[in-house]
Amino acid sequence: MGDLRSTELQLGDVVVIGGGPAGSTVSTLLAKHGCRVQLFERERFPRFHIGESLIPETYWVLERLDMLPKMQQSRFTKKYSVQFVNSAGRESAPFYFWDNKPHDCSQTWQVVRSEFDQMMLDNAREHGVDVHEGVRVHDVLFEGDRAAGVRVKGEDGAFRDVLARVVVDASGQNGLLMNRLRLRVWDPLLNKGAIWTYWEGAYRDSGRDEGATLVIQNGNKKGWFWYIPLHSNIVSVGVVAPFDYLFKGRTSYAQTYEEEVERCPGVKERVASAKRVTGHFATKDYSYRSKQVAGNGWVLVGDAFGFLDPLYSSGVLLALRSGEMAADAIAEGLESRDTSAAQLGKWGAAFNEGVDRMRRLVCEYYEGFSFGNMIRTYPEMRGTLTDLLIGDLFHDRVDKVWAPLESLYTKGKPPIPKWDAGLPAESVPEKANELVLPEGRRP
Ligand SMILES: Cc1cc2nc3c(=O)[nH]c(=O)nc-3n(C[C@H](O)[C@H](O)[C@H](O)COP(=O)(O)OP(=O)(O)OC[C@H]3O[C@@H](n4cnc5c(N)ncnc54)[C@H](O)[C@@H]3O)c2cc1C
Repeated sequence: MGDLRSTELQLGDVVVIGGGPAGSTVSTLLAKHGCRVQLFERERFPRFHIGESLIPETYWVLERLDMLPKMQQSRFTKKYSVQFVNSAGRESAPFYFWDNKPHDCSQTWQVVRSEFDQMMLDNAREHGVDVHEGVRVHDVLFEGDRAAGVRVKGEDGAFRDVLARVVVDASGQNGLLMNRLRLRVWDPLLNKGAIWTYWEGAYRDSGRDEGATLVIQNGNKKGWFWYIPLHSNIVSVGVVAPFDYLFKGRTSYAQTYEEEVERCPGVKERVASAKRVTGHFATKDYSYRSKQVAGNGWVLVGDAFGFLDPLYSSGVLLALRSGEMAADAIAEGLESRDTSAAQLGKWGAAFNEGVDRMRRLVCEYYEGFSFGNMIRTYPEMRGTLTDLLIGDLFHDRVDKVWAPLESLYTKGKPPIPKWDAGLPAESVPEKANELVLPEGRRP
């Protein structure tokens, strides 16, 4: 850990709040650009985090971060595909990434986040980022409408002000600046919850299917399970369903989870002879985005900018891509002495369009879209659908998928409202999404 007292700040410095994948990415790339970066992380790593399945387009950012050799030498499970199982137990053919793009990038990983996040943060240190663990950013300091630094609180309880020309908020779902500036817009459709646990010895496919993510719909179609094989013979299995359905009028998380497993034969049979090795984790999974990606002297990246329902495992990719896009804009701005909102947020429109594409595919699934049916009706669309699933979201060439998809709509189905169409007042969450850990576990 860097020593705060000995740190002298210079013009051109950047402060990053949070050492998750978004914070590590933006700070490492800025350090590679030659900027001096301080990162403040309130926890001491390794710490628990959900979000274990990567998608292939992370490859390009990991390559820029010099992380690929570390990933290739790691014990993380290799992932080559994703497969969907419908409520009747019918399996779609797997979407093999390699068949669509025969390149190393088509193999990705199922990661244990405590280990992956630690590797990313260590990598940031190796690139010269001054990382302070166990230091919470209490507030962002402003001069007028311009961010000027942060007030941090160390483990000794002492406060200290740290000045910088650019403040990057990568504080995850906490959304420090988003809350302070009241920028959070809750998604009108995607208000879900999740309960999950970890199994040892659950069913694993073999060969290139061993590391596949399975998305398995519940028998009553009210939710779906993720089935993510991790290293050391552990499988992460979680249910995602509408918030009210999962949490209102139910008893304990453990019992709700068991009831949902009962409703989902595809999961029940896979964990039948396995041993549960942790308690039950739970979180509110309301999707949201910020109205702005940047202001004068500040930028938001990763979940501190937006969170999208985890159906297609896009969270870490979006954290990495926003971190990358922001780093390039910040480095250019520092060099040209322009740290205005326009310069720091110049990537925001393109990024939002990419998130919109992923969000539309998420919403279509919840409104009845079937991958199996689509491929049977339009086999020529398999490649484009796979492009979306691997996270190749930032080109309009993938938009040719929407007209065939709409042709499969049931009659009278209304269009999907936009993310900022407004949430009915009675369903606005009081607090940000919160992780509930099993008893006795530290974050
Ligand atoms: C149920 C569920 C399942 C998911 N599944 C997947 C999946 O399979 N694949 C996938 O890619 N994504 C998944 N995600 C999404 C993924 O977890 C996130 O998108 C990703 O972790 C975002 O990274 P981040 O760096 O923005 O935030 P985080 O990883 O949350 O990092 C933020 C960091 O900031 C620190 N911090 C917060 N406040 C402060 C402060 N005031 N001062 C200092 N530090 C602070 C935190 O301690 C934390 O370490 C899932 C999410 C949920 C809820």
